[in-house]
Amino acid sequence: MTTANLLDFDLAGLAAFCERLGEKRFRAVQLFRWIHQKGASRFDDMTDLARSLREKLPAVCEIRPLKVMAQQASTDGTIKWLFDVGDGNAVEAVFIPEDDRGTLCVSSQAGCAVGCRFCSTGHQGFSRNLSTGEIVAQLWFAEHFLRKHLKTSERVISNVVMMGMGEPLQNYSALVPALRVMLDDHGYGLSRRRVTVSTSGVVPMMDRLAQDVPVALAVSLHAPNDALRDNLVPLNRKYPLAELMAACGRYLPAAPRDFITFEYCMLDGVNDQPEHAQQLLALIRGHSPYYSGPAVPCKINLIPFNPFPDSGLRCSARPTVLAFAETLNAAGIVTTVRKTRGDDIDAACGQLAGDVLDRTNAAQRMAQRRTTDTRPVHVVRRNG
Ligand code: SF4
Repeated sequence: MTTANLLDFDLAGLAAFCERLGEKRFRAVQLFRWIHQKGASRFDDMTDLARSLREKLPAVCEIRPLKVMAQQASTDGTIKWLFDVGDGNAVEAVFIPEDDRGTLCVSSQAGCAVGCRFCSTGHQGFSRNLSTGEIVAQLWFAEHFLRKHLKTSERVISNVVMMGMGEPLQNYSALVPALRVMLDDHGYGLSRRRVTVSTSGVVPMMDRLAQDVPVALAVSLHAPNDALRDNLVPLNRKYPLAELMAACGRYLPAAPRDFITFEYCMLDGVNDQPEHAQQLLALIRGHSPYYSGPAVPCKINLIPFNPFPDSGLRCSARPTVLAFAETLNAAGIVTTVRKTRGDDIDAACGQLAGDVLDRTNAAQRMAQRRTTDTRPVHVVRRNG
């Protein structure tokens, strides 16, 4: 019999699990708090659980962490972890400390099926969905590692962004319980404003998220017209801008913030010209050939492209990025340029995964794939 992984459960799921063991709901709350608030992984350490329960649990369940394959720390405090998720797959989580917050960027899939042109994860292809437990394990590990490292019992991670590898809304059934664990006061107790799901625009699931767990929403836009977006974000062919913008409008009444964040990766000569800024303004205002409807309250985050081999794309020049931002800001759309963090480890980002995977003969397998598959293969660097 395979044992259950308790990281797979939100509190309702854990209560149901405990009930099947003949235990009351308050036992589930105790267990949940030990796991997520105190970082316990051994039942013996859960001293206020009845001894009979502590003896019963190891036969039926465990707290299953992800194996850390590599860790890199930047001089600016950014820390990246590479986690082994089996079968030669690895995913990254990144901790980004700032003065007033600590943000963890979490992965939802090994690889990604969306295949955005500017994203190395997209070039890598899709391996599999992560389980709820594998999503939660990234936060569980990072939070309790950081508390030990910083010698504090206070919460270190105040914000989670589902912006690592994968399209979270294409792994919806695992994502929702993971978000509930993050928000639960007996778990990580994060506010809905401080948990962000980033999507490339899976419209039906945006509507469901608004119903099920309406956290903050970021949309990877990257283009102000359908022809360009079809090329950069292939999912646009299924859910074009008119549908996406309308879905953003529908999301807002349930959202914890009164705006959507649009992410826009700045690509030299591709989407960074003055006419693109004007098209973007028209799109947001609902006066575009691609979307006509109510204006979508938003903030825009311009992301300097993080080049990787074989992308065929270059980062926009800094003056071009600033001019693009100025056009939008002058029109009253709050626009920021994403700070690059962890510069000294950034260059090694793809290499970190690549080096580790090489130990599992990934290079050999990739070379074999290249002979039969013309798609370039890269590992773990997300621009979206
Ligand atoms: S940007 Fe996001 S949705 Fe697009 S390929 Fe990369 S991980 Fe997938």
